Amino acid sequence: MTDDLRQSIAAALAREDAHNCGYDHGFVDKYGIDPETDGIIDAVLNAVQPELDELQENACVLRALRRHRDTAEAEVKRLTERADRVRSLHPYNEDAGYCDLCSNHGDITWPCATVKALDGPDETAEEA
Ligand SMILES: [Zn+2]
Repeated sequence: MTDDLRQSIAAALAREDAHNCGYDHGFVDKYGIDPETDGIIDAVLNAVQPELDELQENACVLRALRRHRDTAEAEVKRLTERADRVRSLHPYNEDAGYCDLCSNHGDITWPCATVKALDGPDETAEEA
């Protein structure tokens, strides 16, 4: 990145020098050719290097956070689908007012214990 940045700064200096400002100090549009141009570019980069380093570090942190977010989103999707599959096994019988599946095993309440576990508060949080 720094080499590309050096070339970009050199091109900008040459453009400003020759076209916009009209001073024609002799800046060239490539780094590594003219000591005066190179000196200005190096001074600029030395001044902004701490910020460039921080940006690079932030970019690494951001990539890691995105990976964690993607993993967490995939896990939420997987668990939601699993819960939906379990929930579909426990349909509410509107006529009888209880769970069709659990009523076969003596649980004639609604919501049944399974649906309560899927929809209710996290009991481990209450214990803590
Ligand atoms: Zn049930």
